[in-house]
Amino acid sequence: MLSFSFPEHPSVEKTYTSLPNSFFQYIKPTPVASPNVIFWNESLANEFMFENWKKQDLITAQFFSGTSLPENLQPFAQAYAGHQFGHFTMLGDGRTIVMGEFQNRSGERYDFQWKGSGRTKYSRNGDGRATISAMVREYIMSEAMVGLQIPTTRSLAVIATGETVLRDEPQEGAVLTRVASSHIRVGTFEYAYHTLSLHELESLFQYTVNRHAPNLLYADNPVLAFLEYVMKRQVTLVTNWMRVGFIHGVMNTDNMSISGETIDYGPCAFLNGYFAKRVFSSIDVNGRYAFANQMGIAQWNLACLTNALLPLIDPNEKTAIDLAKGKLSELENWFQESYIRMLGEKIGFPNLTEKDLPLLRSLYQWMQDTEADYTNTFLVLEGAYVPKDSIYNDHRWKDWVKDWQDAKKKHGILEEDAISLMQKTNPSLVPRNHFVELALANVRQGNTNVVDQFIDRCRFPFKREPGFDYASEVPIDGDGNYRTFCGT
Ligand code: AMP
Ligand code: MG
Repeated sequence: MLSFSFPEHPSVEKTYTSLPNSFFQYIKPTPVASPNVIFWNESLANEFMFENWKKQDLITAQFFSGTSLPENLQPFAQAYAGHQFGHFTMLGDGRTIVMGEFQNRSGERYDFQWKGSGRTKYSRNGDGRATISAMVREYIMSEAMVGLQIPTTRSLAVIATGETVLRDEPQEGAVLTRVASSHIRVGTFEYAYHTLSLHELESLFQYTVNRHAPNLLYADNPVLAFLEYVMKRQVTLVTNWMRVGFIHGVMNTDNMSISGETIDYGPCAFLNGYFAKRVFSSIDVNGRYAFANQMGIAQWNLACLTNALLPLIDPNEKTAIDLAKGKLSELENWFQESYIRMLGEKIGFPNLTEKDLPLLRSLYQWMQDTEADYTNTFLVLEGAYVPKDSIYNDHRWKDWVKDWQDAKKKHGILEEDAISLMQKTNPSLVPRNHFVELALANVRQGNTNVVDQFIDRCRFPFKREPGFDYASEVPIDGDGNYRTFCGT
């Protein structure tokens, strides 16, 4: 093992450990047998002043697998709880450990975390490890989200461990470095509210606001202001998921970040053919986290956060409840407004009105009836893609396009303005399930080039080019029985 400190890096901090020790456990990752860097995100490394760290260096493999640590580092695992499929459970970082907080070139603080780094006191029956497929999947999905302009945690590195992880089938293990503006979750507040003292809940609140939005402390009621801050970020986040056809798959309250970043890439997947109730996750048998339920579930989760903050909103319980209810009813409106605006932008309307909603409903109904591809349909409309599929010759589609043209005229929207708005809103490329699986199969056989090339392409998902490359083609047999899994 190598012994080193961070000679090339100015700062690593752990402000989170200023919280009472009920919020974390100091713990080091478990070393791995034979670490090997398979993915290294050079542009992200550069943003965080890790530009002197090279993919091929032994120290990179040793440190980012958690095998050798600098002397000045005191890593820790975070405690949290959460509502999983509606049921309250005690949780925590069972296979992740925070290495510390680093600042980027703009002086913004981010957590760096090993994922798949061994057991902690929150591991329950888990092995604390992760498979190479699951970690590379997270790497692809999170970096694709950056290109799609959707708030997300990021992935700095994936290190293969040379050890076997036992799942349905034995697979090589891997450790991913996750970068997040913090790992404070709705479930962190639920943990404090349900199991700790009022003082500890207050400490978490103070810490979180100081870290994410210190100006809120000057609001009339900082707790309500904070609630609104979190709510508005979730509205933006989930609206964006709906824009590109992303299904998170496991929107438990522990998987919802206070910062509004997409977090915990487990059973997530992208829509191909449109189907409102589409579910890919093998365990989501009742469709709680189906595509079209995501806004409703976000509201449910935010109601859990509101509940956990009640004692801080006002010392008088009745007043606190009245104020909280007020915010929750505003939330419903924010979601509606944001969703309708986004749908309008998908068809090139900058200010969609209530009167235009039937136009959109009929488009979505047609997509649902024909299972039209959610990405390509908007490209067809824009004239950027010539479809092979016969559904675009049917009279319902042609009639709808005519209605859309008429509505544009009525609103005085110029063709070029509509197209330009659609080009900014609708991606030409999303990481389609069949392609992600192909890329992962390559990685398991030792070929990382397919993923590297795909991620390069995913950095520009709004590009329009004549004749799409294979990555944007729809799967021949649709999604068939495509299934995704948690915690692999
Ligand atoms: P997730 O479904 O990935 O959000 O995980 C739910 C909980 O299970 C979290 O507390 C995780 O830390 C924990 N967990 C998931 N996989 C493992 C594992 N292999 N070992 C230990 N804990 C795990
Ligand atoms: Mg989780």
